[in-house]
Amino acid sequence: MVLDDLGSSLRSTLDDLRGKSRISEEDVDEVVTQIQRSLLQADVDTGLVMDLSDAIRERALDEEPPAGTTARDHVLRIVYEELVDLVGESTEVPLEEQTILLAGLQGSGKTTTAAKMAWWFSKKGLRPAVIQTDTFRPGAYDQGKEMAERAEVDFYGDPDADDPVQIARDGMEATAEADVRIVDTAGRHALEEGLIGEIEAIAAAVEPDRNLLVLDAAIGQGAKEQAQRFDEAIGIDGVAIAKLDGTAKGGGALTAVNETDSTIAFLGTGETVKDIERFEPSGFISRLLG
Ligand code: GDP
Repeated sequence: MVLDDLGSSLRSTLDDLRGKSRISEEDVDEVVTQIQRSLLQADVDTGLVMDLSDAIRERALDEEPPAGTTARDHVLRIVYEELVDLVGESTEVPLEEQTILLAGLQGSGKTTTAAKMAWWFSKKGLRPAVIQTDTFRPGAYDQGKEMAERAEVDFYGDPDADDPVQIARDGMEATAEADVRIVDTAGRHALEEGLIGEIEAIAAAVEPDRNLLVLDAAIGQGAKEQAQRFDEAIGIDGVAIAKLDGTAKGGGALTAVNETDSTIAFLGTGETVKDIERFEPSGFISRLLG
């Protein structure tokens, strides 16, 4: 990580430590306060911010800088390591045959993310297919189909069917030639029992290799209950954060990551199928602090 990634006020505070050979408690407090301010503004959970602050404070004051390391570089390294620990490493997404199930509330960005991920896999040389099982939201079928066409990937759905589990089963058969199947599911406005039961049944039918929770970057602390419920139902292996091109920085999603003991896999940064990035800790950290 370069200092530029840290946000301007934190950067200048760290630069003030440049000439110092020892760091005082006040110096560390100033650094920690600035990090706290940025992270809370980015919707990171207060408890997570406090844990991070304690870890930075303790290490910066207790650990001796290695020989030849300036006080500033020592603190910078600790800050960076603790931030990486907070955001986590990227979810492993092997380039091999697999079925990925997407879960999340209505409007979170699932259908868009399904097409984007399919596009991403196709660019990696695999043959992906999207299976649309959302029979609840009017337009989900058309939207999924249209986006899959734009991504130039296979698509299966049935606008006349009303049993999502049967669509999932049929979709697995119809896309037998694909390497990667991405199964889109219905989301509703709240976490109803019906929704959870439905996704459990779809998971049982398609036997996914990984389940990703799609979250709107603006979710804030609402991420917690959602993540818990989906994790209890199907087990969450990773998170995709959509709509990071807006003002929201996605810090709320870290609550879901923490709750489900998972990691972040993908970031959505726009409305077209190409607006997808693999999560990578340092870029996300600079987004949170910037
Ligand atoms: P679903 O109900 O979970 O399937 O959500 P959709 O995929 O339909 O997304 C809901 C809305 O958010 C749609 O208008 C999408 O175009 C929009 N959307 C999804 N992902 C992104 C993104 O990364 N950036 C932006 N700007 N809009 C997005």
